[in-house]
Amino acid sequence: MPAANTCPVCDRPATGEHHPFCSQGCRDRDLIQWLDGNRAIPGPPAEETED
Ligand SMILES: [Zn+2]
Repeated sequence: MPAANTCPVCDRPATGEHHPFCSQGCRDRDLIQWLDGNRAIPGPPAEETED
């Protein structure tokens, strides 16, 4: 069982400094992706009722 200590963003070996990422850039990218995923909550469709 290999100890896969790889960056979840780019699959490069993670460094101790930025663990579990390989660099500050991948840290930011992961955070942005996380925020994007969280933000992707579609609001209710605008309802227009006509009588
Ligand atoms: Zn990376």
